[in-house]
Amino acid sequence: MGDVVLQTATINWLRSLLGEEATFSFVTSKEFSSLIDTHPEVKSVISFDRRGGETWKDLIKKIDELHEKTPIDLILDLHATLRSFRLKLSYWTIPSLTVDKRRWERFLLTKIKSVRLKRLFDKKLFGLEPQVERILKDFEGIFGDTRSKRRTVDYRKGPNEELTSLASLPVYPLPGPYIVLAPSASFSNKRWPVERFMDLGKKILNETTLHVVVLAGPDDKFCEAFNEIESDHFHNLQGKTSLKESMSVLANAQGCIGNDSGMNHIAEAYGVPCVTLFGPTDPRFGFAPHGSKSQYISKEMFCKPCSTTGKTPCYRDRLYCMEEISVNEVFNAASKLLGNS
Ligand code: SF4
Repeated sequence: MGDVVLQTATINWLRSLLGEEATFSFVTSKEFSSLIDTHPEVKSVISFDRRGGETWKDLIKKIDELHEKTPIDLILDLHATLRSFRLKLSYWTIPSLTVDKRRWERFLLTKIKSVRLKRLFDKKLFGLEPQVERILKDFEGIFGDTRSKRRTVDYRKGPNEELTSLASLPVYPLPGPYIVLAPSASFSNKRWPVERFMDLGKKILNETTLHVVVLAGPDDKFCEAFNEIESDHFHNLQGKTSLKESMSVLANAQGCIGNDSGMNHIAEAYGVPCVTLFGPTDPRFGFAPHGSKSQYISKEMFCKPCSTTGKTPCYRDRLYCMEEISVNEVFNAASKLLGNS
C-alpha cells in the first residue's frame, strides 16, 4: 500500500518532465487501486483482482486492450518484483526501466549485529535516503533531467495534490478535531502492542480535547480490543470504512500515530503530521516520514532490523524493538507535532 502512495511523487515528477501530452496508466492489485484511481495525473488504472479469481491472462488482456488504444512507449517498473519482471517479459519489445529498491543495502543492514556499525549506514554514506528521493534521483540520471520543478524535494507536494480529487469524497461523519490511531501493519511483528495503543488512546482522551479514531481493515480483528474503551470521543472504525473512506478520514485528521505501514504513508501524503513507530524494520530503509512536523520513534538495538520487510518471526524472547517504545514517549511526540505541549 505504501509503495503505491509513494509512487505518486514519481508520476508527478514525470508529468512535469514530459509535459501534458504524456499519459500515465498504473497497473496494481485491485485492493490498492483506490489509492491511485483518482490521482489527477493518472489516466487509467489497470487493476489485477487476483483474490477475486482473475488470472494472469486476464491481466495481459486488459493491458493489451490499453496498448491497442494508446500504444505504450515505456514501462516503468516501480515495484521491482518477480511479478513485475514477468509482466515486463510479456512486453519485452517495449522499453522498460526498473527502480533500484536498494534491497542489497537493506539486506546488509539486517546482517550487521553492531549498533555502531549500523550507524555507518548514514544516508550520506550508503545512500539510504528517503526511497522517493532515491528513485527520482535514479530517474533523473536516466532522463538527463535537472530542470523539472516537481523534483525529489517536492515529495510531499506530489501526493498532496491528490487531495484535489480525493477531498471531494464523503468524509465519515466524525465530530470535532480528531487524531487517528493506525495500529495495523502488514506483519504482526511490525505492530506496537494493541494494549499500548489502547493506553495511548485513553491518555489522549484524558489529557486533550481531541477525539480518537481507530482505522484498520476488516481482517484486523485484534482491534476489537478497542471496543472496551467507552467514551463518546472514541471511535473504533476497524472494518467499517473502505480504503477510500479511510483516506478521507486520514486527510481530515489532526495527526496520525501508527506503525511503519501504509496508513501513515497516506496520512503523510495528505500533509497530516505523523508519528511512525518502527519495530523490526528501520527508518534507514527509506520509509520514515519526511513531513516537517512528522517524526518517528525507533529504538536502536543489535537485532534490529531483523528483516527487510518485518516478515521474519522474532527470534528473541520478546518483541523488544516494539515493547521498548513507551506510551508516554509516543504521547509526548504526538503532543509536540500537534502543538499541545
Ligand atoms: S526484537 Fe529484534 S529480533 Fe525481535 S522482531 Fe524486534 S528487531 Fe526482530
